Formats: sequence, C-alpha cells, structure tokens
Amino acid sequence: MRAISELLSLQRDNSELLRAQLDAFSRQIPLLYSTLLISTLAVAATHHGHAPVYLTLYIPAVLAAACLWRVIMWWRTSAEQTDDEAAYRKVRSVIVLAIILGVGFSSWSFALFPYGDAYRQGHVAFYMAITVIGCIFCLMHVRLAAFTLTAVVVLPYALFFLSTANPVFVSISVNVVLVAIAMIYILLTNYRTFAAMVASRKELMIQHEETQRLSDENMRLANLDSLTDLPNRRQFFARLQPLAFDGAAPSEPFSVGLLDLDGFKPVNDLFGHAVGDKVLIEVGRRLESFVTEDVFVARLGGDEFGLLMKGDNSAEVLMELGRAICADLERPFEMPEATAKLSGSIGFAQYRPGGPAPTHVMDRADYALYHAKQNQRGTAVIFSEGLESQLLEMTRIEQELRRSDLEKDLSLVFQPVVDVVEGEVLAFEALARWSPLALGNVPPSIFIPIAERTEIINRITATLLAKALEAAKSWPDHVRITFNLSVRDISSKASLLRLISLIEKSGFPANRLILEITETALMRDFDMAVEALTLLKRLGLEIALDDFGTGHSSLGYVHRLPLDRIKVDRSFVANIETDDVSRSIVKTIIDLCNNLGVKCVVEGMETREQVEILRSFGCSRMQGYYFGRPVPLEETHAYLERDGLLMRA
Ligand code: C2E
Ligand code: CA
Ligand code: CA
Repeated sequence: MRAISELLSLQRDNSELLRAQLDAFSRQIPLLYSTLLISTLAVAATHHGHAPVYLTLYIPAVLAAACLWRVIMWWRTSAEQTDDEAAYRKVRSVIVLAIILGVGFSSWSFALFPYGDAYRQGHVAFYMAITVIGCIFCLMHVRLAAFTLTAVVVLPYALFFLSTANPVFVSISVNVVLVAIAMIYILLTNYRTFAAMVASRKELMIQHEETQRLSDENMRLANLDSLTDLPNRRQFFARLQPLAFDGAAPSEPFSVGLLDLDGFKPVNDLFGHAVGDKVLIEVGRRLESFVTEDVFVARLGGDEFGLLMKGDNSAEVLMELGRAICADLERPFEMPEATAKLSGSIGFAQYRPGGPAPTHVMDRADYALYHAKQNQRGTAVIFSEGLESQLLEMTRIEQELRRSDLEKDLSLVFQPVVDVVEGEVLAFEALARWSPLALGNVPPSIFIPIAERTEIINRITATLLAKALEAAKSWPDHVRITFNLSVRDISSKASLLRLISLIEKSGFPANRLILEITETALMRDFDMAVEALTLLKRLGLEIALDDFGTGHSSLGYVHRLPLDRIKVDRSFVANIETDDVSRSIVKTIIDLCNNLGVKCVVEGMETREQVEILRSFGCSRMQGYYFGRPVPLEETHAYLERDGLLMRA
C-alpha cells in the first residue's frame, strides 16, 4: 500500500525532485506538443470532407489553440523564479492537463472514428496509439502524469477497440496495452534512477556547501584572534608583507603602530586570567572603534596590538590618532569582579616613498614603543630623527657588547649599605662598570638596558656574579654582598638553573648573598617571578625588591612575593626635606615593611638632614653617597677598617 501511495504521490516535501522534474520536462515540451499537433492535424486532414466540419476543423483548431496557449504560458512562467510552492503547483498542473488533454484528444478521436473508411479508421487507431506512447515518453520525468495519461487514454482505447469486435482492431488494442505496460515498467526503473540522481546531486551540493563553510571558517579562524575577534598576527603580517617586504619600494605612504598595554600584567596576576581576558576583549572593542578604511588593527599577541595605516601619515595625523587611542585606553575598565586602570604606550613609524627602506618600519615602530615604555608611558611616540640616532647608538653599543671580552672589560664597584643605629656596615652593593676600549666608560644605566634586550645580559650577570662572590670573600663574615639581577636572569628555567649552579659552585655562603630585582621586572610575569624567587631562596640567600615605588600598583602584591628586603627608590628621598608627599610615601612604605616583617633599606641618602628624617621614621638601614660612593674592591677594605660610618652618622 505504502509503495502504491508513494507511487501516486507527488512527494511535495522533496522540492529538489520537483524542480528537477520540471526542469527535465521543460526540455521535452516542444517535442511533446509538436508531435501532438502535427499528428492531430494529419488526422484532421485525412478526415476532412468525410466527417463534419466541427470535427475536422473547429475542434482541432480549439485543441491546437489550447496546446499553443499552454506552451506559451509554460515558457512565460518558467522564466520567473519558482519557489517550492509554485514548483509543486506547476507539477500538479502538468498532471491535470495530462488528464484534460488526454480525455479531450481521445474523445475527439473516438468521435471521428465512425466517419472514416477502413484506412481512415486504421489511421485513427494508429494515431492514438503512437501519439500516446510518444506523449508518455515525453512525460517520463513527471511519473504521475505519465501514469494518469496511460490510464485516461490507453484503458478507454483498449475498451473501445475491443468493443468493435474487429480482429485487426482487437489485436492492435492488445498490442498497445502490452506496449504500454512495457513502457510503464521502463518508466518506473528510469524514474528511480532519475530520483536517485537528483538525491545524490542534492547530497553533493550539501557536502560542497559544508566543505565551503568549513574552509571559510578555517580561513576566519586562521586570521582572527580567538579572544578579541580582531585580526591576528598572521593577518597583520600578511597585510604588511606586500607593503614592506615585497620587491620594489611602495609608492604609497603607510605607517605602522605598535601598542603595548601598561599595567596589564598586574591586573592579570591580581584578579586572575578570566578578568585579564575580559580586559583584553574590552581593549579589542575600544581599538576596533578606530578602524576605518585606512586604519587596520590587529592583536599581535599577549597585550600587544598592531596598527597599520595607509594614506596620509603625517606626524600630526598619527599623533592625533595616538592621543585618541591612549585617552580611550585610560578610561577605567569596569567589570563585576574589579575595576582596572590601564594605559597603552604606542610606537609609530612612517614610511614615505623615497624615504628609507620600508623593511625598517617595524624595527622603528618597535624602538619608538620601547622609547615610550621607558620614558613616556601611556603616550604615543613617533620614530623621529632623534630616536634614529639613539637607535644607531644603541645598535653600536649592542655590537660592542657582543664583541667585548666581558671578563676583562667588566668590573665592579661597591657601595656600602649601613645600619645607622648599630653603626655598622651591613653589606656592599655590587655595581657594574663596563669599559670597552672602543667606547671608554659606559654607565650601567646605558648598557644594562641594552644588554637586557638580548641574551647578552645572562653572560654579563654570570661574569659579574662570579666576580662579586669572589670579592665578598675578602670581607668579614658579617658583611654581605648585594647583587643586581635582571628579569631575564630568572625568566627562563635554563638561565635560572645556571645562576643557581654558579652560586653553589662558588663555595660562597649563600646566607651572605642578597639578590636585588626591580619591581617593574617582576611585574612582567608575576607567577614566573614568584616561582623563580622561591627556588632561589631555597639556597639560603635573601631577596630584595629594588627601586620600590617606581612601578605600577606597588602595594597590592608585595605580600605575595617571597621578599626579605624592600629598597625604597632614591627618587623619594631626593626632596624628602621639602616635599610632604614624598615624606608620607616613604613613611607608608616603612610601615608596610614593618607590617610584613620585611627589612627596609632606603637608597639615595645624600645629606645629614635626610638621614635624620628617616631615623625619625624608624628606619635604620640606608645607602647613599652620604655614607659612601661606589668604590673599587681595594677601597672597601679601607672603608671597613676606618669604619668611617661612625664618624659621619
Ligand atoms: P640601582 O640598583 O638602583 O643602583 C643604585 C644606583 O644609584 C647606582 O648607580 C649608584 O651609584 C647610584 N647611587 C647610590 N647612591 C646614590 C646617591 O646617594 N645619590 C645618587 N644620585 N645616586 C646614588 P649605577 O652604579 O650607575 O647603577 C645604575 C643602575 O644600573 C642600578 O641601579 C642598577 O639598576 C643597574 N645596575 C648596576 N649594576 C648592575 C648589575 O651588575 N646588574 C644589573 N642587572 N644591573 C645593574
Ligand atoms: Ca640595586
Ligand atoms: Ca635601586
């Protein structure tokens, strides 16, 4: 039953199949109607004069007109977009018309039959049989129409000619029925193949669409930063590549901007990565508002973003954009968990046709950013001629550092750290000096930051630490050595382990060693720093936080660091006699140290008045020119013997 009902249904929900049927049938229409019309006209002609005019002229004319009208209507509607519903109606109309025309043409033929002689009657029988078979063939793709046509024409045909009892017509009708059955059988198998083909074509199309969708999605993911939905590093360089690195120098000006967030790490460390992620998403959203046809923004990784600007890139335009972005990033980031305050530093570099090669643009933007980070946090800096000469100088120093015989060119000077209450020298801080032949004396404030940009700093630290430990062996047991580390010395497992093994091999008692590390260095990766410092402390040495008060969000995190000492930056001492703010900051830090059970050392003591003020705050550990400038090792012995401190304090 189900098979039969399926056979007789139009499969309305299978719009693909309905459309394919219409499509295939459309191509048969001219054949179908021309066969029908021409053979009908031939029958009408052979009967003309033998049958009444209405049968040989008027009715054929009406039938022919109906057929023509149908063909015209078909072409007209098939030109229009057909939706699923219209396709269904169209297929249904084919079936209905098959019935109407089938009944119409056969009735006309039967009406004509009695008027003819034996030939003409034979003509009618032949005409009906061959024409209906032709039509069924043409309707092959619209299965139901072919069935109904067979039913409405072949069955009456057989009955009509069987009823004549003429053996010739009886055998013709048997013949036609058999052929019709064979045709229906062929039609069924053909139709099944046709339907399967349509289905597989549909399947293929779905697969193709899916493949396309996946490949689009891949493309999107490969070029987008999954957190912020901004274009990623890959896309940034894909855009920069043709501008800066391909073949001839570009004829259009462009600029590159590198943006780095200030104070993002502490947010991440204090509030957790989930909050850090939210901040980055919001930063991405804010940056997106600066995107135009000529301004492209990408996230390069971590808290670093890249800008690419085409068209007018005069300093004024860049600075205006830079200022607007910096101002936008300074707005607080309000989240349910916390409100974070950040800023962004930007380095811009321009390319102008005819100017220096575009390949340097990234390096220059990078240097401008470095400059902003060092000197003007939270602002935009454009790579200028001034920076160009600085960059050259930096490159020269870097090359000289690489070439330098560090063992020979590096030396140490030592500055006392004293306890003014006990009246004794607690330690000497080892301070680096570098005197390469080519450059003379280069101060550490110049060469250390340059070395810190590369792995050279690790070699410098190793050389200096060995020298420092060796020097400290010449002092009495109660005098310690305090040594400056760079963040790069502890930021990788390998460099950290080298450091530990160097200390262990030196044979110097670790409890006489203090390692200093600056606050800003620690802030770059808080978790890593905590881990590294904890490991170092297991040796029995002490950790001091250097330059305290100059970095970001100082007070919030110190209790989470494994610290023994905090060194208050000398900038607070410089005007402590006159400036109330400095005074109260220093006092707060001293109180904080007392609360945390951490020793406090104040740096940069230059005058007796400063010493008096700090003593009144309850601070006894100090360092500065007032007690002694950094001196070579030999002079430390004289200093210790003279015990010059007691005389001064
Ligand atoms: P720092 O660690 O804060 O060292 C103290 C700096 O302040 C020294 O400058 C010292 O000479 C200077 N100073 C000491 N007392 C006074 C004072 O009363 N008034 C003034 N105005 N300055 C005073 P120096 O030797 O030029 O070192 C500068 C910086 O270079 C150091 O700052 C430290 O950050 C870095 N540095 C020095 N040696 C090394 C080293 O061996 N390794 C690493 N990684 N960094 C080093
Ligand atoms: Ca120091
Ligand atoms: Ca310091």
